[in-house]
Amino acid sequence: MRKTGVEIRIDRDRCMGSGNCVFWAPDTFSLDDDGQSAVISNAVADLDKIMLAVQGCPVQAISVMSAGDGLTVQPL
Ligand code: SF4
Repeated sequence: MRKTGVEIRIDRDRCMGSGNCVFWAPDTFSLDDDGQSAVISNAVADLDKIMLAVQGCPVQAISVMSAGDGLTVQPL
């Protein structure tokens, strides 16, 4: 299991509240009162689960950045 500190962003203009990200990474994502995804933890995260969430988002609304090495992961 890889763990890392990351910055995760949700494009709320794209998010349509499917909940896929919450399914794959429930320690990182939650649906808010508007039914859209919200990041509940950036501090220490399971990057493998987060990447499943990125790949599983049907509207490519999740971006992941690592402040330490400048790595940027965006949806395909
Ligand atoms: S998987 Fe994508 S569309 Fe679905 S709730 Fe998460 S960010 Fe929104």
